[in-house]
Amino acid sequence: MSQPRKALALISGGLDSLLAAKVIQQQGIHVEGINFFTGFCVEGHTHAIRKKDRAKPKRNNALWVAEQLGIKLHIIDIIEEYKDVVINPKHGYGANLNPCLDCKIFMVNKAREWIASKGFDFIITGEVIGQRPKSQRKDTMPVIARESGADDLLLRPLCAKNLAPSKPEREGWVDRDKLYAFEGRTRKPQMALAAAFGFEDYAQPAGGCCFLTDKQYSRKLADLWSARGERRYELDDIMLLKVGRHLRPRPHFKMIIGREDGENKFLQGYRNQYTSIQTSSHKGPLVLIDGDPVSDDDLDLAARITARFSQGRNADQVEVAIVKPDGDSLSLQVAPFAGEAIPGEWYL
Ligand code: SF4
Repeated sequence: MSQPRKALALISGGLDSLLAAKVIQQQGIHVEGINFFTGFCVEGHTHAIRKKDRAKPKRNNALWVAEQLGIKLHIIDIIEEYKDVVINPKHGYGANLNPCLDCKIFMVNKAREWIASKGFDFIITGEVIGQRPKSQRKDTMPVIARESGADDLLLRPLCAKNLAPSKPEREGWVDRDKLYAFEGRTRKPQMALAAAFGFEDYAQPAGGCCFLTDKQYSRKLADLWSARGERRYELDDIMLLKVGRHLRPRPHFKMIIGREDGENKFLQGYRNQYTSIQTSSHKGPLVLIDGDPVSDDDLDLAARITARFSQGRNADQVEVAIVKPDGDSLSLQVAPFAGEAIPGEWYL
């Protein structure tokens, strides 16, 4: 008997990739999953930090999908290579700083390399024509297949019947008649198929699978690039953009202000990299200062703003402790910002 064909499914953790993998699995194909960690992924980070999100299940949706399917999941760290996709997307950005088309091409290309090295036969994705305005259109589907190099080894089981047959269909590895012709933004066909398969409690579709689709997050990233004078980031930068209120009181420095205990604790982990400020006479948030050089006048301003967010906001004077990354510290007595507008640009 011949060996079953083997497919690699791109697993984002959403419903579409779950269904696509299941459809192919049902045809007797051996399926394994691949999930890419870019650093911009939404789940399992802010939900774990913020108290208000604590009720949300703290699960990794890609792992949950793999568990539902009973498949192996390969989680691949692509943080470094992915920077070029975010910084220089050949096909541009979507509504925010989301380079969805380039991102898809990049990920399918990584999947293509993976199957070539592991002896797998083809790649599947949960893409649906018309589902997303930038990357999932009828005219972008062939672009992804071509520019990733996957060509007709890329099969989209949920909308395959609206596309030219891929090699797995032509060769009879999969039965095209048992694939789907989903199209458009409606989620109803997917939900019906999920019900037919008995899937419940799957991740609800949000704006996208990463923070780059978020308007406020993209503003913060654009601000970071503009302050640095170049489009560059490290993993810590993009993690910190997910946490706290961000305020740029002066062009050369930014304050990251913890919004609650969970965020304050998270920010504490960065005190050996950034100057930190916290009120010592009153309870208040932990604040990190991102900028260099920061003068005494800047620190005084930052201390007054920090005091404004503490329980001493109505006091005449508040004591504030400033700790530099090397451990040097100083204490200031400052008047909190009162009614006057806090200077600078907010990034919430
Ligand atoms: S939402 Fe993010 S992860 Fe998803 S395709 Fe767009 S850029 Fe890539």
